[in-house]
Amino acid sequence: MLESTAPLAPWLQRQLRSLLMRQGHAWLLQGPSGLGQYELASALAKAWLCAQPHDDGACGLCPSCLGFDRHTHADLCTLMPETHSLSLGWPLDEKTQQELDDKKRKPSKDIRVEAARQMVAFSQTTHLGSRGQVVFIHPADRMNAITANTLLKTLEEPPGDTRFVLTTDSVHQLLPTIRSRCQSHAMQVPDDAEALAWLNVQGVPSEQAEVLWRASGGRPNWVLDRVRDGLSAEQWSQWPRQLARGQAGLLELLSPTEGLASLQKLCHDLLALSLGAAPRFFQPQHLPKSPSPRRAALWAAELQALVRHVEHPYNAGLQLQAWAVRARLAMRPD
Ligand SMILES: [Zn+2]
Repeated sequence: MLESTAPLAPWLQRQLRSLLMRQGHAWLLQGPSGLGQYELASALAKAWLCAQPHDDGACGLCPSCLGFDRHTHADLCTLMPETHSLSLGWPLDEKTQQELDDKKRKPSKDIRVEAARQMVAFSQTTHLGSRGQVVFIHPADRMNAITANTLLKTLEEPPGDTRFVLTTDSVHQLLPTIRSRCQSHAMQVPDDAEALAWLNVQGVPSEQAEVLWRASGGRPNWVLDRVRDGLSAEQWSQWPRQLARGQAGLLELLSPTEGLASLQKLCHDLLALSLGAAPRFFQPQHLPKSPSPRRAALWAAELQALVRHVEHPYNAGLQLQAWAVRARLAMRPD
């Protein structure tokens, strides 16, 4: 798979330009997921490596840019969970690929310490191009303490001119020592008009885009990802009523992590409505008339506690049913 050479969203383009004007050898791009951390970090790494960069980013034409687009740049080291490397089309090292091909183990959801050690070795080799080396860590919160500590010294005193770009949507999960060695950039949220126009250009029709943009809570890449999952505006709008009838609805379409996050959005709106405030993610006509503040608050606490274990379900089917049953209870009036 090739790196997408589609133009960056305008708000990411503005952020790229400002990052390129600033000094710094290690940037941490942070903010809620769905704001384009991966796209911005890629564009920054590509521009750093480009032989003829513009103020607005990489030239897109030089051998370095072409190598980057093919995911074969010799001066670029990506540190990602194997699951991310596979889905984003970044090559794995030979040994890892062999182990996965032989089904000796499943792709790791975390950044493995072996990969961090390879990165340290990479940073000590002589770089080939004229623009130094780049280490791209995505997402940095998928490093455990051992992996993060392996990285620390190189991050603090990079040999030669190695630069780092890290992404995260859970900055609180990073070691403070990692955070303190990076300059932080808070991902910007586009305004409604800009995001809706961009979603249209990406092929999301206006009537779909408006509902899903609202559902996203202001995260344009979330909308695109969900449209790719097959989510429609109608499914989103009808979901609260389906849950109230005891049907799982969307939960069957979404990943457990996304399903739980969507339940939290619904719960947020039930709480808001029960306290006389406006809902944020759903339109009022799609929500129960008078939800109970007590039930909604109780459910919110339960959902919060589930977040920590969502990636390790004992039985995905049972879990989904249990969540649907619980949602139905929460939506009853007092
Ligand atoms: Zn270039």
